[in-house]
Formats: sequence, structure tokens, C-alpha cells
Amino acid sequence: MDDDPVTRRNTDDDLVTRLKAYEGRPAAVAGTGKDPVNAPMIRHWCEALGDTNPAYSGPDAVAPPTMLQAWTMGGLTGHTGGDGHTGRAPAYDELLALLDESGCTSVVATDCEQEYLRPLRPGDEITFDTIIESVSDRKTTKLGTGYFVTTRTDVRVGPDLVGTHRFRILKYAPVRRPSKPDKPARTRPRPVVNRDNEGFWKAVAEHRLLLQRCTACATLRFPWLPGCAHCGAPGWDTVEAGGTGTVYSYVVMHHPPFPAFDPPYAVALVELAEGVRMISNVIGTPYDKVRIGMPVRLEFQTYDGDLVLPVFRTAEEEALA
Ligand code: ZN
Repeated sequence: MDDDPVTRRNTDDDLVTRLKAYEGRPAAVAGTGKDPVNAPMIRHWCEALGDTNPAYSGPDAVAPPTMLQAWTMGGLTGHTGGDGHTGRAPAYDELLALLDESGCTSVVATDCEQEYLRPLRPGDEITFDTIIESVSDRKTTKLGTGYFVTTRTDVRVGPDLVGTHRFRILKYAPVRRPSKPDKPARTRPRPVVNRDNEGFWKAVAEHRLLLQRCTACATLRFPWLPGCAHCGAPGWDTVEAGGTGTVYSYVVMHHPPFPAFDPPYAVALVELAEGVRMISNVIGTPYDKVRIGMPVRLEFQTYDGDLVLPVFRTAEEEALA
């Protein structure tokens, strides 16, 4: 996009004009319900929601009004291969494509409103038409900048309008979060240090791994927590870990990529000789050579200049080093 402000404003105005031209155009024409209104779907709906209203069962049952949209939906297989069709008209897809082209590639459903004119009953066969009711001006939200698109579906039985369903989405360009200049993109994520774990991180900075020990029942725990999971007592002191352990389990991370890491790499759950387990990296050993039961030894590595982390090196590797 041209960065000249006047040109950009004109381009935005052009887009708004083109978007607004879709207002009133059909998104679905003469759609039909895949199933008639029926007791089994009503029963499943009520069971799922725990709705025991007696109006929805028995010989004079009506459908819960909020099921209105359900009768217009094609289910997992869509409207193909059976009765009913979506009536989908091209205008809605064109509108979404136009928004995609303008950079509004993300979508979130924001709200829906329904109006009920008369109850639906088992046996009713519905038809529906959907129009693009409105496209908003460009709006800025926490998610990003974009346009609210509201569709209105009119649901009928025979010639009678029985309800309307308005559905609103926000099509938006996600906010690009610029990396802060004082925080290069490739640094490791920092631990969240709070009053419950600050003692742990303070000791790590001094190359000591401290485990919490309950002063009531002597149970060791890791990670640091404000209370004992065994007896519930809040009091604790610390024990310094000897530094030996074994790989209790591990995963190899391939995805998602994160700039500070270079996949694939192994993330291990290490069981310390004291009996507690902690998640860390196994270093010095290729990711595909890490195995359950491997003896490992604690060491401290400094990353990004100032971030000290406890990591584990395999005993064999240590012997070779
Ligand atoms: Zn305890």
C-alpha cells in the first residue's frame, strides 16, 4: 500500500465504498433445512444444555427457540448427499475475498442476535434466506483493524417468517506487534518471577538448585509453590539438589518453531536423585540420542548474556567432555 497519507485515505475510502456495495445482497437464497424440525435433535440439544423445560418434550413439544440456527445448518457433511441445501450465494464469498485482499485475513465471530415470531414444532420444514445486512466502517479493536460484517437469516415455514438470526463477524488485519528494540527477537523467553518462586531464581543465578521442603511433613516439591500438595501446610524451607538425576521422560520438539530455539530439540522431564522432577533441556547430546533412564547431571548455562538456567548433561557426554 502507498504510504502517502492522502493516497492511503483514498484507497481506504474506495475499499469502504466497495464493501458497502455488498449491503443488502444475498448470502444465501432459498436454503432448505437438512432435516425437518424433529424430536431427537430437540432432545439432544436439551440434554447437552441441561435444559429440562417441559415445553420441549411430550406430544405438544416445541423446539427451544435458540435452536433456530441449528435447523439451517448442514452438519458435518454440509448440505450435500441428502435433503436440504445451503442456498449459498456468491456475494458473501466475494465480500470475504475482498476483505482478505485488503489484508483483513483473520476472522472472529463476535455476536449473534435472534428474534422469534412463533415456535417451531416437530414436522416443520424450514427454508431460509440470508442477506448481508451491513458492513461497518473501518474499526480498530484490540485484535486489529477491520470491518464488522452482519448477516441476517430469515427462517420461514411455508410463507410464514418464524424467526431471524443475525450473525456478526469481525474480519480484521491482525495487529503486528513490533519487536522492541531493546529485546532482540532471538532471546529466550524469560521466566515469570513472582513472590512464590523468586527464591528459586535467585539461587539459580548463584548456580544452586533449591528444592522446597515442607516444614510440616518434609515432602520435597518442585516447582516452587506456596503450599504443600501432600499435607497442605504453608511452611517450607529449602534443600539444595545434589545435581544428579535421570531422564524420566522426554519429547522432541519439531513444531511450533520459536526464534530462540532451533528445532528439533529434546525437552526432558528429569527425575532428580531427591525424587522430584523438573522440565529442562538435555545438552551436549543429539536430540535423537536422548533416552528414558539416561543418567544426567545438573549444570548451569547462561543464555543471552544474563539468563542463567539449570540444564542437564548426560553422564556419558560429561565423561567425554
Ligand atoms: Zn507437607
